[in-house]
Amino acid sequence: MLRIKKLVKRYGPKTVLHGVDLDIPAGRVVALIGASGSGKSTLLRCVNYLEVPEPGSEIWLDGELIGQDARSTPPRLLQGAALRRQRSQIGMVFQHFNLFPNLTALENITEAPLAHRRATKAEARMQAQALLDQVGLHDKAASYPSQLSGGQQQRVAIARALAMKPRLMLFDEVTSALDPELVDEVLKVMLQLAQDGMTMVVVTHEMAFAAEVADRVVYMDQGRIIEDGPPGSILRNPRHPRTQAFLKRML
Ligand code: ATP
Ligand code: MG
Repeated sequence: MLRIKKLVKRYGPKTVLHGVDLDIPAGRVVALIGASGSGKSTLLRCVNYLEVPEPGSEIWLDGELIGQDARSTPPRLLQGAALRRQRSQIGMVFQHFNLFPNLTALENITEAPLAHRRATKAEARMQAQALLDQVGLHDKAASYPSQLSGGQQQRVAIARALAMKPRLMLFDEVTSALDPELVDEVLKVMLQLAQDGMTMVVVTHEMAFAAEVADRVVYMDQGRIIEDGPPGSILRNPRHPRTQAFLKRML
């Protein structure tokens, strides 16, 4: 389970996350929605310490404090191998796929397990081929990113994140840069992952997808969670005027 406690993030004088608390039990899917600049990406990036939150913030994953050494007081920031090991438990997929252009689809997927010495070359290749099958790309192992459509590249990016066997997957607007006809093939992979029991935080503008896949919808406004509940009630009956205005613009 993911537990976010009193998460504060500042950029210079500007506070962009004002003490966010959020608990996500294992196997649950949360859709994180909110206006541009409300802090959704910053929140995801703080979860795996791509951004370092302010002292006092805590991210716990399955009982382990992320990014900080729980034994030292005050907690010391983790770096190097210790941080990399924790990060490897958290898969992240971005709007822009960020595949290595000089590696094939298969090599993109085997890169992290090999770099972390998690598998032999043969094991990593077998697992990568299984992941390509899972995302519907069994015949694309030898293709380079430039030879794949945006939707195919994004599915390779998901497979690459899964190769480290993460406990948690973070998705940041992974379909926003895609042509509309390619969106569904990516959402389908995410839906399957959710049904297989992955714990997921999904930042998305796809409200129909949020309604179908998420156990909860969380609405952020100016660095605060102002609404949190089942998709049916948040999306159909938002209580907060800001959520109402946001959803009116979206639908
Ligand atoms: P969008 O829907 O446009 O992706 P968002 O909800 O993901 O928006 P964030 O990217 O988290 O919003 O940004 C939250 C706030 O933090 C914004 O005001 C943004 O300008 C600011 N911000 C984000 N990253 C930085 C940075 N590296 N330096 C300074 N300010 C930043
Ligand atoms: Mg963002």
